[in-house]
Amino acid sequence: MITSTACTKAFGKPDIDFEIKYMVVWKVPEAIRVKIPVLPQKIYCHKLMVAPLEKAFKNIIDRELTSEVISWNGCFCIRRKRGQSTLSIHSWGLAVDINEKENAFGAKPTMSAALVKCFTDAGFEWGGKWSKPDGMHFQLSKIYSMKNISLFRVVLFAMLVGMLGACKSSLAPTVTSQTNDTIIKVQTLRDTIIKTKQDSSFYKALLECQNGKVVINRPISVTPGEILKIPGVELQDNYLTVKCKMESQEVPVQLKENHTQRIKTVLKIKTQYVPRELTWWQTTQINMGRVFIGLVLLILIITFLRLLKIV
Ligand SMILES: [Zn+2]
Repeated sequence: MITSTACTKAFGKPDIDFEIKYMVVWKVPEAIRVKIPVLPQKIYCHKLMVAPLEKAFKNIIDRELTSEVISWNGCFCIRRKRGQSTLSIHSWGLAVDINEKENAFGAKPTMSAALVKCFTDAGFEWGGKWSKPDGMHFQLSKIYSMKNISLFRVVLFAMLVGMLGACKSSLAPTVTSQTNDTIIKVQTLRDTIIKTKQDSSFYKALLECQNGKVVINRPISVTPGEILKIPGVELQDNYLTVKCKMESQEVPVQLKENHTQRIKTVLKIKTQYVPRELTWWQTTQINMGRVFIGLVLLILIITFLRLLKIV
């Protein structure tokens, strides 16, 4: 149950500053007025009252209880509670009265439980249950100061921003390239045929007959070759022997082919951050933090939803 002290704390005294800040003229929707004709065209009430009142009227229409709303007896009125010194909740425009004649203050209420439920389901408290019954009276069951609503919004927004920030990795993976030059030396050995130069030696002489024997008179022309020497010529018992000898030739050949091969390798290095193994204490702290954040979020969401319902 809200009290005048709570209202003063939340919204201040019901003076002109309060009215400027919190009071609104709510134009009752035509669809509601058609069904509940006793309602005024406009209701001057606290801005927190608009949504719950509309909900209560819609409940009455949906539950076909419109005929039970006999009279509208006002909302905002700066006055004291009946028989008390404290201000009535009507002073802050947070209460409404209906069917005053049939549910007079202090008398046994005649309002049906179904009609009462239309209001209580919309967030109202009924005065008919009080020790001194006020059957015509419905007031908001809870209030939240507008300051608190703003504060909750700021806190929720900050938490969401913080969570989004926390999800972002501070370091983005990087891709760097590294070029490696590999030089490979290749040696190839080949077999080949070496052709040597043609060579010849020449010997020309006159043969004569002396005493029935053939003798070499004199060489006419003797030419050695480049490598070949002059042939060895012997004449014995009319037999001519020509010896032509060439020493074995050594041609040392070695062929080496050297190739250089250059291999270019591009190595792409992608940096990947591998999380380090956490200690059991760090894991415990994280889990505790998760539970805490979950609880805080749950509380915030529930509180916020409840706030939205009545704002
Ligand atoms: Zn009242």
